[in-house]
Amino acid sequence: MTMHASIVNADVASIQKAAILLAEGKLVAFPTETVYGLGADATNDRAVAAIYAAKGRPQFNPLIIHVANPEALDGLIEWNETARLLAAQFWPGPLTLVLPRKKSCPVSLLASAGMDTLAVRIPSHPVAKQLLEAVKRPIAAPSANASGKLSPTTPIHVAESLYDKVDLILAGGKSQVGLESTVLNLTSTRPAILRPGGITREQLEKILGPIDIVSVAENTSLMSPGMLASHYAPNLPLRLNAMQAESDEGFLTFGPDILAKGGAQRLNLSPQGDLSEAAANLFTMLRQLDQSQLRGIAVMPIPNIGLGVAINDRLNRAAVR
Ligand code: AMP
Ligand code: MG
Repeated sequence: MTMHASIVNADVASIQKAAILLAEGKLVAFPTETVYGLGADATNDRAVAAIYAAKGRPQFNPLIIHVANPEALDGLIEWNETARLLAAQFWPGPLTLVLPRKKSCPVSLLASAGMDTLAVRIPSHPVAKQLLEAVKRPIAAPSANASGKLSPTTPIHVAESLYDKVDLILAGGKSQVGLESTVLNLTSTRPAILRPGGITREQLEKILGPIDIVSVAENTSLMSPGMLASHYAPNLPLRLNAMQAESDEGFLTFGPDILAKGGAQRLNLSPQGDLSEAAANLFTMLRQLDQSQLRGIAVMPIPNIGLGVAINDRLNRAAVR
């Protein structure tokens, strides 16, 4: 993260500059037709961690992955018939589809909060399109506002909220839709709207027939452990705040761990004690330790400050079974 972002009018040169910054792992706010997005290279764990740090979110909720065209999704998700139909009808546009991640999907597990699914979208805003074409990689982008603040529909809104946390703000006028994208889950037995938005239920039902709307309360509980098949929780029990691991436990450590003892296999989230590095490694390392020959996973204490709050939120949810 740098000092103060400059707001620049989106043109060929500034879009090129933004693409280079993104490829370097920096954060760039850019216009989409729904709201302004806070973009980062979705394949870069550290860049994705920087999104959560910039927004000051106390939780890792999964992010929407933006690409320039449907072909760019071939390496990321498993297509199905319904997704093809909806893509042909509504993309580019304010519809997000939740689909199974490909095994070989290069998107950071942090961006999908450790789950086996991925939320994907092709925005129609010309600046977003040109930026995605220039950067040639998937971009994770939640709304470009601090946690708990309103979604931004102008570059000024973005600057008010995140001016010292982004590396560049691309200005491309006012967001036309001004509402978030509709999030449609295509990994459940019936398609289900997880968040109402720019594409209406009626528009979707014209093509799909009856679909479910998941209520806000249910949607919140989707994020609780065990409630959703695709929600990531390790198979092995977690034991938190451990300074010592048994010989049949995996040991997830943090910071200098010479005083921590034991463990069949040990992985360190960040030997330097850097919470952003720890966030970037969290889901990958949990998966690596989640092996059947072990009895459980012991986790060293993580400081409950900055990104540590979101890390502990996730670990606490995974520990309750
Ligand atoms: P925002 O980051 O503000 O654009 O919001 C993203 C929305 O997409 C949130 O409502 C997330 O819960 C939802 N979302 C993103 N990825 C997934 C996923 N893999 N499964 C379910 N919902 C998702
Ligand atoms: Mg938002």
